[in-house]
Amino acid sequence: MTAAEGTGAHARRAAPDRGRTLLGPALALVHTGQAPTRSALTNALEVTRATAGAVSAELEALGLITVDSSPAGGGRGRPSHRLAVNPAGPVVIAAQIHADGLSLALVGLGGQLEPPVHLPLPPATGPVRMLRAVAEAGAELARASSRRCLGTALALPNPVTEPDGTALVALHFAWPSGTPVADLFAEQVRKADQGPRAQYPFPSAVANDANLAALAEHRHGAGRGARQLLLVTSGHRGVGGALVIDGRLHTGSAGLALEVGHLTVDPQGRPCLCGNLGCLNSETDPDALFAAAGRTPDPDRPLLAQARELARAAAVDPAARAAVDHVVDRLGLGLAGLVNILNPDRIVLSGLHLDLLAAAPDRLASVVAERCLWGRSGRVPIVSAEVTHAGLVGAGELAWAPYLNDPQSVLPLPG
Ligand SMILES: [Zn+2]
Repeated sequence: MTAAEGTGAHARRAAPDRGRTLLGPALALVHTGQAPTRSALTNALEVTRATAGAVSAELEALGLITVDSSPAGGGRGRPSHRLAVNPAGPVVIAAQIHADGLSLALVGLGGQLEPPVHLPLPPATGPVRMLRAVAEAGAELARASSRRCLGTALALPNPVTEPDGTALVALHFAWPSGTPVADLFAEQVRKADQGPRAQYPFPSAVANDANLAALAEHRHGAGRGARQLLLVTSGHRGVGGALVIDGRLHTGSAGLALEVGHLTVDPQGRPCLCGNLGCLNSETDPDALFAAAGRTPDPDRPLLAQARELARAAAVDPAARAAVDHVVDRLGLGLAGLVNILNPDRIVLSGLHLDLLAAAPDRLASVVAERCLWGRSGRVPIVSAEVTHAGLVGAGELAWAPYLNDPQSVLPLPG
C-alpha cells in the first residue's frame, strides 16, 4: 500500500494513475456478475463514484462492457447505471478434446457461450494431427463470426504440467507421455488463419479439463462464493478433480495437483489404466456403473449419456438402484478422504457424479460424514454443477485470462 492510498479501513483509492490497475479487477467483477451496477462496482472496488465511473467508461470504450444509464423502472431516486458484458463484444475460441470427439465454441465475457459445435475425432489420433484439427476448426468459427476474436484455449482430459504445458500420461489417446501439447497447439494456431477481425499475436493455452471446469463453476456456477472449492467429475472416461482456493486454481508445484482419480477406494477393485486396482477412476466412472449393474453399454452411443440414464433409472429399476448405491459408496469413500485432507467449504460434483448425487443424495452425504472427523457436526455441502459445457466455459476463462489481467491489451482494430 502506498501513502496515497491511506491506511484507514475506509480509505478511498483516488490517485489518478490507479485507473489502469483497476481495469482488470473491475472487468472481473462485471464478468462474474458481482458488479451488475456502477454502485456495486464502486463498493466492491472501494473507490469513489467518480473513479468507478471513469473505469467503467474505459471498459465500455474498449468494447468489453455496456453501461446503461436509462432508468431501471418506476422507482424513485436516481438508479445506478447498469453494467453488463457487451453481448456483441470480443470472443475467444474454446475447445475441448474428449473421448467422444472435439467440441468448440466462441465464448464472450461472462462465460457466455455461443452454440457449440461437436466434431468426431480425426481418424489418426496422433497429437499433431489432432491439434491441427482443433486449431483449424477454431479458426473457421472465428472467421464466420462478426465478433473480434482475441485468443484460444484447449481443455484436455489428461494432466498438463505447468508452466511448460506437457501432457503427461495421455492415457486416453495413447499420445506419448511428455507430448509438448502447449507448444504443438500454439504452432498449429499460428498456422491457422483466424481472419481479419482477430487480434494478433493470437495467444493460445492448454490445460486439464477438470481444472477448467472448476474455474467455470467457481466464476459462473455452483462454486460461486466458495473459498475452498473442490470439484470432482466423471466425464466420458475416468475421474478428475480440482481445487479452487480464493478464486485461483491450486495446481501444485507442476500443475499436477488433485489427480483424484487414482485415490484407492477398494484395494480389491476394478483395474485402473494406471495399473493399480480400485482407483476412484475405475470404481466410479461410467464403465464402473455399468459393471455394477451387470449390463453392457451400447458401443454406438456416447457412454456418458447412457450411464446418466442408468443412474436416473435407479428410481424404478432395482438393478440400477443397487449399482448406484455401490458406486455412491465408493465415491463417498473418495470424497471423505479428500475432505479430510483438503477441508473444502463446498464440493461440486459434475458429469456422471452429478447424477449419482441426484439418485442418492442422503446416502452420499452419510458416507462422507461417517468418514470425516468433523463430518457429523459440520457437513460439507455437496452440490451439483450448474454450468453447461463447463469444460468449454473454463477453456474460455483460460483464453480470457490475459485480457482480464490487463483489459488494455485488447487493441483497437487496425484501420
Ligand atoms: Zn489409477
